[in-house]
Amino acid sequence: MLVVLMGPPGAGKGTQAEKITKEFALLHISTGDILRAAVKEKTPLGIKAKEYMDRGALVPDELIINIMKDRLAKPDCAGGALLDGFPRTVEQAEALENVLTDLNMELDAVINVDVSADELIDRLTGRRVCRSCGTTYHLKFNPPRVRSICDHCSGGLYQRSDDTVDTVKERLEVYGKQTLPLIEYYQRKNLYFAVDGSRPIDEVFEDISAYLQERKEE
Ligand code: ADP
Ligand code: ADP
Ligand code: ZN
Repeated sequence: MLVVLMGPPGAGKGTQAEKITKEFALLHISTGDILRAAVKEKTPLGIKAKEYMDRGALVPDELIINIMKDRLAKPDCAGGALLDGFPRTVEQAEALENVLTDLNMELDAVINVDVSADELIDRLTGRRVCRSCGTTYHLKFNPPRVRSICDHCSGGLYQRSDDTVDTVKERLEVYGKQTLPLIEYYQRKNLYFAVDGSRPIDEVFEDISAYLQERKEE
């Protein structure tokens, strides 16, 4: 099964992706994670991507499309994958279609996690991430058992440099302009499923899980 998970910054894509990939045995491919790893290693891609990410802009389509082209061609994707944070523009969606056609693959579902802008600001500014294993927490809504320590690996938690109020506002604006048109794009195909992401994490997951179970059985 090949699934796209979309939604504004902070909607809970990463949080849901962790659960979905576990339940449906899918590979988790997050463009944000790929880019942050490249930034950390200071690869040519990372150096280029950093200037965009720091100011809350999208990395240029061409760059991200090439990354995904290579990633999807790897044999481990044949068992099924969840694309988290890609596509984010109509141009990326069109490129994805071409890549999948070349690889003889097909999209099975596009899930959009929907949350209001006010709530997104609270979610993003309170987000904390484990430095070792990448698990995401929230200071108020999803705190670790012990303050600043990861439940899974005891790693330390940090705040992403783009999760400050100003950068978050910019990212939400970019989302509205560049990513929102994708909803209509996918609504026209029969793959689109919107879920109300303002509810508790487990409730959101239940809806997604039920929908994917249906698609899987088709
Ligand atoms: P995204 O990958 O879409 O940017 P995350 O999964 O990182 O979003 O979630 C953003 C923040 O909101 C995190 O701190 C996470 O713990 C928290 N969060 C995720 N889902 C919910 C939810 N349903 N209710 C409250 N907080 C949530
Ligand atoms: P979130 O969903 O919380 O905004 P991500 O971790 O998915 O964050 O992305 C972080 C940043 O990485 C984005 O603000 C953007 O600069 C870049 N990025 C991630 N995915 C894409 C993409 N598909 N196209 C362009 N830029 C991307
Ligand atoms: Zn951890």
